[in-house]
Order: sequence, then structure tokens, then C-alpha cells
Amino acid sequence: MSEKRTEISELGEFGLIDHLNEKVQIKNSSTLKGIGDDAAVIDAGDHVKVVTTDLLLEGVHFDLAYAPLPHVGFKAVAVNVSDIAAMNAIPKQITVSIALSNRFSVEAVDAIYSGINAACEHYGVDLVGGDTTASRGGLVISITAIGEAKKEQVTYRSGAKVNDILCVTGDLGGALVGLQVLEREKQVYLANPNMKPDLEKYAIVSGRQLKPDARMDIIHEFRDLGVVPTSMMDISDGLASEIFHISKASGVGATIYEDKLPIDKQTYDTAVELGIDPITCVLNGGEDYELLFSIDQKDFPKLEKHPDIHFIGHITKAEEGKFLVTKSGTAVQIKAQGWKHF
Ligand code: ADP
Ligand code: MG
Repeated sequence: MSEKRTEISELGEFGLIDHLNEKVQIKNSSTLKGIGDDAAVIDAGDHVKVVTTDLLLEGVHFDLAYAPLPHVGFKAVAVNVSDIAAMNAIPKQITVSIALSNRFSVEAVDAIYSGINAACEHYGVDLVGGDTTASRGGLVISITAIGEAKKEQVTYRSGAKVNDILCVTGDLGGALVGLQVLEREKQVYLANPNMKPDLEKYAIVSGRQLKPDARMDIIHEFRDLGVVPTSMMDISDGLASEIFHISKASGVGATIYEDKLPIDKQTYDTAVELGIDPITCVLNGGEDYELLFSIDQKDFPKLEKHPDIHFIGHITKAEEGKFLVTKSGTAVQIKAQGWKHF
């Protein structure tokens, strides 16, 4: 008798998480939100705590051929802070767990922690614990971040309503284009170690890949302006994939407009140089760590003049589907490609 074997790739990353979630039963009334958002939400009396965790593996999430150790440390913190930001919360503490092979010296660990400590300073968080262990393979960093918010400030993926305005911060696609450039320069270097990589010209896009910054500035501005988005998440897998998450969680559709999508000039020019469609980078490029959120129309005047918030479309009824209106006016269905880990 042969045992049934299902490939993880049949479910995909999100299918696998849904599958695991089916067996999970919440027992404590303080667990306000479990699996399924950017962070879990826990009742703490007069406020809530939000908790998120992310795992970064050498060779999967970063390549030490081009990622400097301090940047890896900084990014490991930033990606967690980004998930706290996505809940409209303020990060307060992190724990850092690290697995090291004997390839790494104390100086190398110090270099990683210089980035971790710089990020703690930048985001105002305290490093309060972690775990250290040996690794047979490369470097593994897992960080858990804890944040705080008032209960009524927390933004879930599930709150988008028909006619809300869809917004994104910053610009998109840069991190993917940066990764392609870094990979190309690595291949050039491997073919000829005397060649010095020419990264100056690509400083913005390679920076987007190597040292992303979580948009805590926007969260503080929401506080100042008295805006609470109706839904929010961070863009880690690509805009198209995140629109699917918001749509699914909120039970809505969405229409976005190609001419409203923010792309940096260097991202655009480099994508063209590399022979990739810039719009594909914007829709499916991961790791930008910008915020995707929806707002009630009444809040539009408060954000209208913000230089770094872009109004890319609006929320529609679920049955209207998810569409991108191209510059020529054609509506094309959005496909969620995102990053396939399996
Ligand atoms: P993000 O990209 O915002 O970090 P993920 O797509 O990684 O979010 O995760 C989506 C949700 O699934 C989150 O609530 C996360 O905590 C949960 N999750 C992911 N992997 C697991 C796992 N192995 N077991 C339980 N929950 C998980
Ligand atoms: Mg997220």
C-alpha cells in the first residue's frame, strides 16, 4: 500500500498556510486575530499587541555574494517592522534568533548585529531576546516583532468597502529590478573576478533590494492626520498578489489604473535595459515593503496632497472582479503571480 503524498507546490505557500489554519482552534478570548493577516492581534486591556515573525535564509532570501552583512541584519528587522506598520501599529520590541555555521566569525556576527542595532535605533524598538544555534548550512535569521496600537486603530486586510480608494506609498518594482541587477553583476564577477561591478548607476534599485525601509513614517502621519485606513497590508509579494489578499479578506473586488501606478525612473529605465516589462515589475515584483491600503472617501482630502501616497484605484463589489485599466483604456484581469516559494 502506498501512502498518499501531496507536493507542497500543489497547494502553494498561501494554500499551505490555509491548510494548516484549518486545524487551528483559537482558545483564548485575548486572541483577537490569529493566522491570516500581516500580524496577529492580542488584547492587552487598554490597547492591543501585534505580533509578527519572519524567517530569512541565506541562499533563499539573501545572497552574501552581494548583500553586506549589516544590510542583511537591517533588512531582517525592517521586514518585520513593515508587517507591524501594515497593522497600523507602532513596533516596540523584537527578538532575534540566529543560526550560524563555522564560516562565520565573531566579527561577522558583529557586522550582522550592527545592522540589527541600527534598525532598532531607526524604528525605536528594543531588542529583548532571541536564540543562538549552530547551522550546518548557511546563515539563518528569524525575527519576531511586537507592536502596539489602540484597538480602534488596528487595520486588517478585511476592512475594505466598496467605493474606498486604493492607495500605495512610495514606488514599486525597484526591489525586483535591483535583484536582477545584483544577480547580473554577480555573474559578470564570477566569469571574470577582475571585473569590478558597476553598481553606482543602479544605486537606487540595488538599495531597494538590499536595504528596504519599512514605512513607519506613513503610520506616524496617519496618527497626525487622524486617518485610519479601512484595510492595509505591506507589499512583500507584489502588488497584484496583495490586491488578491485584500479582496479575499474583505470580500470585495478592485480596479486599478496603469497610469496611476508609481514607478521610479531608475526602476523603469533599468527594467527596459534588462528587457523586462516595467509594469510587470510594479505588479509582480516583491520585497518593496511599501504599504497598500484603502481609505474611506471622506479621508481623501487629508491625504490628497501627500507627496508619497498614490491613489491607484478603488474598491468594487466582489462580482466585478479585479482589473487593471491600461493606459489605452482596456480593462485586463489582474493575475496574482507574486513570489512562488515552492
Ligand atoms: P507576510 O507576508 O505579511 O509576512 P505571510 O504571507 O508570511 O505574511 O503569512 C500570512 C499569515 O500566515 C500570517 O498570519 C502568518 O503569521 C501566517 N503563517 C505563515 N506561515 C505560518 C505557519 N507555518 N504556521 C502558522 N501560521 C503561519
Ligand atoms: Mg505583510
